[in-house]
Amino acid sequence: MGQINEFELIKRYLAPLQCRQIPLSVGDDAAILPCDSATYVCTDTLVSGIHFLPHWPVEHVAYKAVAVNVSDLMAMGAKAQTIQLALTLPDAQPDRLAALHQGLKAACETFGVCLSGGDTTRGAIMVLTVTALGTAASGRPWRRSGVRPGDLLAVTGTLGDAALGLAMLMGQAPEDDACMLALQRPQLPLDAWRYLTKLDVHAAIDISDGLVQDAGHLAAQSGVSIVIELERLPLSSPVQQWCAHHGNWDPPLFGGEDYQLLVAMPPELARQAQTDGQVRIIGRVERGQGVSVLHQGRVFPLSGTQGFQHF
Ligand code: ADP
Ligand code: MG
Repeated sequence: MGQINEFELIKRYLAPLQCRQIPLSVGDDAAILPCDSATYVCTDTLVSGIHFLPHWPVEHVAYKAVAVNVSDLMAMGAKAQTIQLALTLPDAQPDRLAALHQGLKAACETFGVCLSGGDTTRGAIMVLTVTALGTAASGRPWRRSGVRPGDLLAVTGTLGDAALGLAMLMGQAPEDDACMLALQRPQLPLDAWRYLTKLDVHAAIDISDGLVQDAGHLAAQSGVSIVIELERLPLSSPVQQWCAHHGNWDPPLFGGEDYQLLVAMPPELARQAQTDGQVRIIGRVERGQGVSVLHQGRVFPLSGTQGFQHF
């Protein structure tokens, strides 16, 4: 199938996703966003060969590029309103663009966001950079530095599914569609997040680089010690089976890209949220520093892999 030009590409596949409630979005030299409250902003990039592979469904990649940004705002207690998309493509094949449009559309509908602009360029590989802008949904921002000794640590959803999906792609685990999908098209914990925005959450982070590493960011920025109990981690049955079979808990402890929320809150609130089925308590906060993992009350030795880092 033939390729289309840049302006046709924007008109056909991107402009239909533009914000209707924003007076000026896609189509002019810049968008004009009416802002009458604090604006939360974040940016995340997905690079072909690093964050996804060239043969992955483009629809999932586009969905994920939006989801990871919405997740960052959720981790601050903020609701994404609009996104900007800087898009680099090696070619303009209509079938790939249609898939891109579908993935963006699904994400916009699921997360209640719209497209307010971006940039489109040709490049050697596909790169999607999304900037999300949003507004406060919680009483105050959920800073990483807000954890206090005595808090309980809780998590939304299961851990390790995306890591197992990656192991499956590399032929190191039997295929399971749910785990592959967790990796390629993360489902964000929207209901639990909405529930949590009504509570006095002290701190939050989205688990993108692995539980231990992300808990480490909370511990370091709050100046506290975080103790995680291995047997409390919520695991899906494929992850549970894989870990038990291999005697290896790396996927839930160090695997990245779960995009679940890790939150610290006062004990009574955490227990109520758990009773209400919104979170699972996985640990506690003490005076001190660093992250430790306990297994049946004993210190669980942490392996060399300590979570994802680019460099
Ligand atoms: P300029 O020449 O001023 O850089 P462009 O031709 O890059 O303008 O973009 C024209 C319009 O299309 C702008 O409103 C821009 O925000 C929008 N646009 C371009 N690429 C994208 C994209 N990938 N996603 C959303 N909007 C885009
Ligand atoms: Mg431009």
